Amino acid sequence: MKNTEFDQDQEQVGGISRRDFIKFCSAVAAGLALPGAMTAKIAHAITNPNRPPVIWLHGSECTGCSMSLLRAEHPTLEKLMLELISLDFHETLSAGAGHQAEEALEQSVEANYGKFILIIEGAVPLKDGGIYCRVGGKNFVDIVRDIGPKAGAVIAVGSCASWGGVAAMAPNPTGCVGVSEVLKDQTVVSIPGCPPNPYNLLSTIIHYLTFNKLPALDSENRPKFAYGRLIHEHCERRPHFDNGRFARAFGDESHRQGHCLYYLGCKGPVTYANCSTSQFGDAGSGCWPVAIGHPCFGCAQKGVGFNVPQFTVSPVLHQTPAAGHAPIIVERGEGVSPGSAALMAGLGGVALGAGAVFAAKLDKGSKHEDEEA
Ligand code: SF4
Repeated sequence: MKNTEFDQDQEQVGGISRRDFIKFCSAVAAGLALPGAMTAKIAHAITNPNRPPVIWLHGSECTGCSMSLLRAEHPTLEKLMLELISLDFHETLSAGAGHQAEEALEQSVEANYGKFILIIEGAVPLKDGGIYCRVGGKNFVDIVRDIGPKAGAVIAVGSCASWGGVAAMAPNPTGCVGVSEVLKDQTVVSIPGCPPNPYNLLSTIIHYLTFNKLPALDSENRPKFAYGRLIHEHCERRPHFDNGRFARAFGDESHRQGHCLYYLGCKGPVTYANCSTSQFGDAGSGCWPVAIGHPCFGCAQKGVGFNVPQFTVSPVLHQTPAAGHAPIIVERGEGVSPGSAALMAGLGGVALGAGAVFAAKLDKGSKHEDEEA
């Protein structure tokens, strides 16, 4: 499909039925919060034979982000990787090896100077000059410094490339950092997650191909369309949180009933990501950690995943209105912490209401603990 532009009348687009291809483009447009009219523009951008290629490098990582992309189902792997995005170089998928692969990389970089999309998976070790990650006889940090400034756009995929992730966990013996610490003079888009949902990456690439610019980014260079809200804001267990129904131990009655995992250390209230709406790793409907009964680990949030212990109870960053109906009877407690939570939320009407409900629910939770004790 690299050499065929999208034609409204063609039945197949690069081995995908026209219907499925348009559905995919519509889903990308919706995910990017673009109007439906943009579907055709996206279709033309993806099939433009002159679209910039993607070059994918690996640093200190486990290749989980690549695996996540490979198992994206809509469309399937080979069409996604080999046709919808023009993947010129990917170390672990490349048919070539050794000098042959290194030459292919150099040729693609030179032929597409200033245009290609550089995706980096994995952290960059800096300690001892970067000797703890070497590819083709070069330290990875030098490869990043060499190729990064030649790219049209740089995307750090996964938490390791975004801010160090698991590779930078204390005591971080190899001095791993995120890509932005190495390419300080250019914008490095961050798609954190361990692994991130592949559609967050694909949609970012397709936005760049369609509009020749990156999507709107937040202060940590994460695309706002995917990382603009807390997991907690759209969690399917949120009505249980709002109504004070919490699991206290794995396997207890509340856990079996599917109640909120807040007291099991869920990091959804401090983690910005779309796992609760787009699921995790495209593993299928309803398959993300919270849905299957495990608290969110906060893998996508710098300073949380791989930093805060899994079962440590988090604060709640934003007091948002209840996702379910308001309870008819609100129990009011006398504990200091829940009262403080309500006081802190007393800056505005909505915040006050949400904060009071939240405080009451937490208090209800602590009473429950007392009863159990
Ligand atoms: Fe969902 Fe976790 Fe928030 Fe509970 S604390 S509503 S399980 S994100």
